[in-house]
Amino acid sequence: MSFSSIIGQDKTIKRLRALIETGRIPPAMIFHGAPGTGKFLAALEFAKALDCSHTEHQEKVYAPAAAEDDLFAAAAPAPEPAPERAPAKVHTDLSDSCGVCISCLQAASGAHPDIRVVDTEFQAALLDETESANLKIDTIRELSRWAQQKPMLSPWKIFIVRDAEALMPQAQNALLKTLEEPPPGTMVILTVSRKTSLLSTILSRSCIIEFGPLPREALRTILEAQGAEPGEAAALAALGGGSLEKAGEAGAFLKRISALRPGDSSRIFKFSAGLPRDSHKAREEVKTLLDLLLAKVRAAWRAAEGPAKNRLTALLKRSLDLRRMADRNVSYALLLETALLESERAGIKLEDLTRTGQ
Ligand SMILES: [Zn+2]
Repeated sequence: MSFSSIIGQDKTIKRLRALIETGRIPPAMIFHGAPGTGKFLAALEFAKALDCSHTEHQEKVYAPAAAEDDLFAAAAPAPEPAPERAPAKVHTDLSDSCGVCISCLQAASGAHPDIRVVDTEFQAALLDETESANLKIDTIRELSRWAQQKPMLSPWKIFIVRDAEALMPQAQNALLKTLEEPPPGTMVILTVSRKTSLLSTILSRSCIIEFGPLPREALRTILEAQGAEPGEAAALAALGGGSLEKAGEAGAFLKRISALRPGDSSRIFKFSAGLPRDSHKAREEVKTLLDLLLAKVRAAWRAAEGPAKNRLTALLKRSLDLRRMADRNVSYALLLETALLESERAGIKLEDLTRTGQ
């Protein structure tokens, strides 16, 4: 894995590589973008590239003739490109990780002593408690203590605070001290999908890197690489709205919908009862579902004529209102049931959501 493993964020990755090339590494960075756009993966690759010792080796070449020889070439003292087999590329790119040095191998296995991922799962292990939704001040105090220690193996000690919207206000204040006076060789990357959840003082001290929605084609390629059938990958990429996470959620809904009995009059209630208990997750799911539903209503409205058009105009307005309500503090299950029942009365059924590309 290297920066080349991140698909669909070419401009952003170019910017990160330029930072490494110039050597001007900001001590505090925020990777901002919607969930499922590659922020965390990019943070890991950025950390890996910074701490890489750039061991010279022949990079894997995907030409069958060269593939086997590469294994032996790694041990050769000075790899020379063989003239009869062209593409034996030696790793010389200092803005990306080499993938073979000790630092890279430790980073890939999640065991790098100088690259630490701080999230709610890590916190649960650190504080010996069940996983909570928030990142607490005690966790950030530990981070600040580690930040004062010198890196063990590599030039940089890097902390990746994953989903930093989980940081409680006191924890953010505690983190601010490390961001204001970072010990030499220490850097902190916060990945976040909602910038407004961070204190303005944190935002102003950080270099913000934006992650836009993934192009549909990139999403399709990733889904296929993860094992989806080509047809399924294309359908989910269309529903994903530029987010791998949303595409995954859409896939899960479609499976849940397919499992319901079409004639069952209580299936809408059964479906909404399956929403996650966590209210943030429930809201995100309901928003994705309402987006799917809206796309169906719009398509039906475009194709309709006469009295049906009037009925669908009313439904479209109502669906947009319900979609706006999903951003407020409401009962998400009730909201979803209302939207699905009203659509069903206008002839758009829950099962229609599984038919993509219409
Ligand atoms: Zn390396």
